[in-house]
Amino acid sequence: MQIIDGKKVSEFFREDLKSKITDFYAESGRRPRLVVIIVGNDPASEIYVSNKAKAAAEVGIVSETVRLNETIGQAELENVIWGYAKDDITDGLLVQLPLPKHLNAERALALIPDDKDVDGFSVGNTGRLCRFTGDGIYPCTPSGIIQLLKYYDIPLSGKRAVVVGRSNILGKPVALMLLNEDCTVTVCHSKTKNLKEITLTADILVSAVGKKNVITADMIKDGAVVIDAGITRESGKIYGDVDFTEAAKKVSYITPVPGGVGPMTITMLMINTYQVAVNHNEKR
Ligand code: NAP
Repeated sequence: MQIIDGKKVSEFFREDLKSKITDFYAESGRRPRLVVIIVGNDPASEIYVSNKAKAAAEVGIVSETVRLNETIGQAELENVIWGYAKDDITDGLLVQLPLPKHLNAERALALIPDDKDVDGFSVGNTGRLCRFTGDGIYPCTPSGIIQLLKYYDIPLSGKRAVVVGRSNILGKPVALMLLNEDCTVTVCHSKTKNLKEITLTADILVSAVGKKNVITADMIKDGAVVIDAGITRESGKIYGDVDFTEAAKKVSYITPVPGGVGPMTITMLMINTYQVAVNHNEKR
C-alpha cells in the first residue's frame, strides 16, 4: 500500500510553477495577478483566503484580497465584481464561497468572464470540460485529483471509477475528468441505492461527500485506489470520508486526510492563474 502524498506532489508543482512565473516575468515584465473577493468573515473562508494569498506570494503571483462587508447588497457586490471582470490588469478573479445567505451566488459568479474564471466554475468552462476541448480552465480540486493520479503513474484508461458525490465543484467535474482519461465512470449520490454494491466495483474510488466514515473498508475492493476529498471538522480535527485505518490495509494507493487532496487545490488555483495570465498575454 502506498500513501499518496499531496504535500509532496503539491511542492513539486509549486517549484515548477515558480520557475515558469520567473520566465513569464522576464518575458512580459509583469506577474500574473489574482483577485479574491470575500464577503463577511466566515472563519473557514478567512483561512482559505489567507492560504491563497500566501501561496500566490510563494510562487510569484500578485494577489489582492477584496474584503466586503457582510451586509453588502446584491447590486453593490455585482458592481465590485464587474469592475474586476472588465479591467485589463486582472488575470484571475474569484469570489470566495459560501456567500452570506441573502446574496445570490449564481448571479454573482455569472459576472466572472470565462477568461478570468480561475475556479473553473463558469458555464463556458464547464461546457469546455464537458466537451473535452482541452482549452478551458477547470475546477481546482478535481484537477488536483487527476494530477495526483498521474504523478503516481496510476493507470486510468479502461479502469472502473466510482465517484461518490455529484456537486458542481467536485463530484461532477472529477467524474468528467476521469471519463476524459478513458475510465468507465459511475457517479453516486445521496439517493443511490446499494452504494456498497457499486463502490465494490471501483478500481478507482473517489469520495467527495463530507461525512466521516461514509466509506468503510468493506465497501472497497482489494487493491483499489482510494481518493478521499471529504473534509469533516470535529473537535478541532479534520477527517475524510473514508475509514482510513481499515481501508489502508486493503488498498493499493490511498490519500490521507489531511495531506492528500487538500494541498493540491490551492496549487491548482495558482496554476490556473498562471494559465489565464499566459492566455491574456497572447491576446492583449
Ligand atoms: P456537497 O455540495 O455537499 O456535495 C456532497 C455530495 O455528497 C452530494 O452530491 C450528495 O448527494 C452526496 N452525498 C451526501 N450524503 C451521501 C451519502 N450518504 N452517500 C452518498 N452520497 C452522499 O459538497 P462538495 O462541495 O462537493 O464537497 C464534498 C466534500 O469535499 C466536503 O467535505 C468538502 O469540504 C470537501 N472539499 C474538499 C476540498 C479540498 O480542497 N480538499 C475542496 C472542495 C470540497 P446529493 O447530490 O444527492 O445531495
